[in-house]
This record gives sequence, structure tokens and C-alpha cells, in this order.
Amino acid sequence: MLDMTPKEIQERKALRINPAKTCQPIGAMYAALGIHRCLPHSHGSQGCCAYHRSHLTRHYREPVVAATSSFTEGAAVFGGGGNLRQALRTIFKVYNPDVVAVHTTCLSETIGDDLPTIIKKAREDGLIPEGKWVIHTNTPSYVGSHVTGFSNMVKSMVDYFAESETAGEHLNVIPGFVEPADMREIKSLLSQFGLRGIVFPDTSDVLDTPQTGDYHLFPKGGVRIDDLKATGSAKATLALGPWASEAAAKALENKCGVPFKVLDLPIGVAATDRFVQAIMDITGLEPPETLIDDRGRLIDIMTDMQHYLYGKKVAIFGDPDQVIALTEFLVSCGMKPIHVLTGTPGKRFELRLKGILKEVAPGANVRAAGDLFLLHQWIKNEPVDLLVGNTYGKYIARAEDIPFVRFGFPILDRVGHSYFPTVGYRGGMYLLSRIVNTLLDRKDRDDADESFELVM
Ligand code: SF4
Repeated sequence: MLDMTPKEIQERKALRINPAKTCQPIGAMYAALGIHRCLPHSHGSQGCCAYHRSHLTRHYREPVVAATSSFTEGAAVFGGGGNLRQALRTIFKVYNPDVVAVHTTCLSETIGDDLPTIIKKAREDGLIPEGKWVIHTNTPSYVGSHVTGFSNMVKSMVDYFAESETAGEHLNVIPGFVEPADMREIKSLLSQFGLRGIVFPDTSDVLDTPQTGDYHLFPKGGVRIDDLKATGSAKATLALGPWASEAAAKALENKCGVPFKVLDLPIGVAATDRFVQAIMDITGLEPPETLIDDRGRLIDIMTDMQHYLYGKKVAIFGDPDQVIALTEFLVSCGMKPIHVLTGTPGKRFELRLKGILKEVAPGANVRAAGDLFLLHQWIKNEPVDLLVGNTYGKYIARAEDIPFVRFGFPILDRVGHSYFPTVGYRGGMYLLSRIVNTLLDRKDRDDADESFELVM
């Protein structure tokens, strides 16, 4: 286990120990699954594709389909263009998707394969049937993380599909690297307003499909191509989470003139309020009563349970958009996030967190492009009452005997996370109930007999 992690922190520049991120193609693959009838395609060796598929399958507990260029030594020397051409020929003949979304890997990037040229030539040579799409993005894994890979693929959706028609009344929402349940919740929120919203990508009904006994290679969910084209004529775009969604929103403004606003992921009351307010500002609509009631219920839980949350020290790690929004939410609940870390690079992360924490935890440790070894060392130096992060945190939680709430990506050892949202007021209720109940479970475990309570 992690019993040997030393307390003394030394500055490291060249070494990552237990990274708090994974590689770009995983995010690109996940985003591509959010297009209806799309087959993600990994341009590299079979090993990369197998790893990315299995990682997604273990998190979502659904079959994740993806094709690969199956590089061998020959492709490494002469380039993978021939492999991709052969793959496209086979894919359209055998699987017949509407879209093939190609992303690169470390190897194909190092070779320098020119994907736009390979795809253009494949179309000219008739390997891509009429009416079918092949899109691409570059996702070398020696830079960025799964979050930037997601962002790159979403931007490619704009680059390839968005069309500028007469301005419509509909709204685009780029939901960020969130669960299928979160995308469903965002759609529900828009429909409570009575709005037509295009949420892209959309993995609901793709990676949380009901069990019917029948297998569908292409499930019913995913954003439709017509809707992706229509993103270019929307009234505005709301990009949720700067890391995962801003690049696509910017590209859409540059390409089609659709104005955009970048917001935090709507986790917790304040961030969801800002999302709702942005919808109100753009549309002039008032929030529906259902939403106001949900907000009230979330605040009720916060009020009822604040004595169990107030002053509790917490360590948070994960993807930057999620960590920022969650930190703000937990601060609003009275908690003290004292160690906050993401594996994804980006100086803005540290600036933003310092701003959120300046009143409650001015000396907090905050790090972008950090690793879990550093997080563990911080915790050894200043222990916390709660750890929140993805499955990889369980080793630290066990070594230090800390209550642990799984949140973010990936969660490989629990179920339910892809079915219950954490965004919106309803998502906030679910998330907060898990946090409070985890703290109460620990209190039950630790309380002496005389303070062991039936009603808490
Ligand atoms: S880091 Fe590079 S080589 Fe490794 S799985 Fe990811 S894309 Fe493939």
C-alpha cells in the first residue's frame, strides 16, 4: 500500500508518482461516444485503444465500442496512413456508423501522421461513403490530460459540423466532461424552462442504457448530426467548465458568430444559480417553479446538516472543472478545503482556487499538474476529515484512515455514479447526501458508547 510515503516534501520537476490524470485519447473517445451513431477510432496501436476502452468500460460499466488503426512496426516506421485507410474501408463495410471520430495517440503524433490529408484522400478515393462523416482531433498524451482530449474532440465537432444559418432561438450547452446522468439533468433543466437546447456531446442513453436483453452497437442516445449542424445558428452557447468546454465555444463563435459564456460546472447552489441566471439573461424567461423548489430542497439539506459540515477539513482532487465547482460548493456548506489538486495543467486553476479559498483557508495547498504522491504528503503534514476524489484516492484514504467520497473520473470500484447527477440543484442534493452520510458513518464508527446516537 502507501505506507512508505514520506512526510518531507521535496520539489520535483521531472517525476510524476501516481498521476492525478490519464491520457488524452480517453477523453476524446468519451466525447465521441456522445454523437449518435458514432464509432470512435484510435489512430495508434491496439494497446492504447484496449486501455482506453477498458478504462471507460470499467467506469461506466457499459460496453464501449471503438476501432483502432492497429499499428505494428511497419506503421511506426512508414506512418499509419495505410492502416487508417484500411480501417475506414472495413469500418463502413462491417459496422456502418454515420460518423467515425478519429483521435491520435502518442505514437501517431510522434510519427507525425497528417490526419486531415489522409482523411481527404480517403474521401477522394471513395473509402468514405456519401453522407458519412470522418472527423479527427489530435490528442498526444505527452501533453494535457483526458480533459484536454475531451475538449479537443468537442472542438472538432464544431470544426466539422457547425453551420451558420439564420439565427435561431435555441441554446447550445456544452456540458463538460461529466456523467451521462449530468447531461440528462442539464437537458431536464432546459426543458423545465421550455427551451430547445442542444447539448453536445451527450452520452446519456449511450453509456447508461437500460438493460433490455438486446445489444445495440449504436444506442439511441447521442447528439444528432442535424443538431450539431444547428449549433452554428444558436442564439448563444453556454460552455460549462473552462477546461473541457471553452475551446469549442470559442471555435463556434469564430466560425459562426454564436456568442458564448463560460461558466463553472453547475455543482452546488451558487454555480447552478449562475447557470440558471445565464439562461434567464439570454432568453428573458423566468425560472420554473419546479426549479425553485429543487433549489429550496438543496438549501434545506445544507441547513439541516451544516453542524456536521462546518469547519471540517477536506482534501479534494480530480479534474479541474469539477474540483473548482465542488470546492466552491463545499465552502458554501461551511467546510474547509485545505488541500486541492488536479493532474491537468493550467495556472488558472491555482488562481481560481486561491480566490475561492481566500476567506476560509488562505494557506490552503493548491496545485495544478500535481500528483497523488504530493497530495498524500500534504495530508500527512496536515490531516483532513474527508477526502473527495476518484477511485485512485482509496489508497490514501486507507493509509491515513480518512473517510472517502468517490467523485469524478474514473470511479472503478463503486456503482451508481453514472446514473445519479451531481450537477444542478438535484445533483447537489445527491452529492451532499453522500458527503454527509459518509461523515455520519464515520461518526458512528468512532463514537464512544455514551455518545452513540440513534438520531443524528
Ligand atoms: S499515454 Fe500514449 S501510449 Fe500510453 S495509452 Fe495513452 S496514448 Fe497510448
